[in-house]
Amino acid sequence: MTNERNEPNDTQSFLDTRRGSPETSLMRILLANPRGFCAGVNMAIQCVEEALKLVGSPLYVYHEIVHNRHVVEQFVKEGVIFVDDIGEVPPNQTVIFSAHGVSPAVRNSAKERGCTMIDATCPLVTKVHMEAIRYARQGYNILLVGHAGHDEVVGTVGEAPGAITIVESPEDVDRLPFDSDARLVYLTQTTLSMDDANKIIDAIKRRYPDIKAPPSEDICYATTNRQHAVRELATQADLVLVVGSKNSSNSVRLTEISENTGTPAYLVDDNSEIDHDWFEGVRTVLVTAGASAPEHLVQQIVNDLAERYDGEIEDRHVIGEDMHFELPISVRVMREREEVSS
Ligand code: SF4
Repeated sequence: MTNERNEPNDTQSFLDTRRGSPETSLMRILLANPRGFCAGVNMAIQCVEEALKLVGSPLYVYHEIVHNRHVVEQFVKEGVIFVDDIGEVPPNQTVIFSAHGVSPAVRNSAKERGCTMIDATCPLVTKVHMEAIRYARQGYNILLVGHAGHDEVVGTVGEAPGAITIVESPEDVDRLPFDSDARLVYLTQTTLSMDDANKIIDAIKRRYPDIKAPPSEDICYATTNRQHAVRELATQADLVLVVGSKNSSNSVRLTEISENTGTPAYLVDDNSEIDHDWFEGVRTVLVTAGASAPEHLVQQIVNDLAERYDGEIEDRHVIGEDMHFELPISVRVMREREEVSS
């Protein structure tokens, strides 16, 4: 398996000649930076950890706190109950809303049940919610570029249900019912592929040249940075491994971006999902991780590859990140009360 930048004719012979030569590595393992947890995921996970300490279990979380199987399974072991319907949360219990955000209808249902609510919505998702509310109030029709049914999109639509139309593809733009002089604005889901989103936005602008753009980019810094890193590094590899779950939008986008550069990519939850037939003829592998994938899973994969294939690991830094989000005020208040009473 090769791409045009990696001497396709002699890859296998390279591996053959290096086998048994301990001073030289058989495989280059490029480790993409940035990768893995973003500030929103860190904050959401910390919310659940703090709530487990302060409230104990069972603790209810509406939707997967982040879209990662390992994170969810670990919390289940610690007494967290994940629900997809607020009706499953017994009255007066504590419920945490996931990083992807919820609609006002969900918040109201939790309130009616007397639940204590902890909102772990990523502030960058909340920013899109606020934009939706503001533009709806100003009489705009909102075109939301995103995936129908994704938790984040469901939550955003719930903020202004009568004013939002979801646009999933350039073809959808042709079917929009609005006149060319309609009062329109577009917003986007935070975890889209920038390339795909731009194609849709270009189609929207062609049909509605006067459409208003969001005040700042909705696709978040973490999605953008991980995509930049893969776009830049994938062409230097024969194969890309993306660590992340199948329902993680930003992880799936990373595999697509790699494939668009011509380098095959596989999305794996962990080391056990790797099929070593994939590595036949592979001289350089790029490893990255979606924004909800824990770093220890990346390390297991990288270490296993290094051991099996006499690999040499190279850290590749494309963009630095120093974003940090505070815990929600509700958690900080609970923590302060606990400290005062103990
Ligand atoms: S991927 Fe972006 S929007 Fe989603 S939780 Fe992370 S920082 Fe927030």
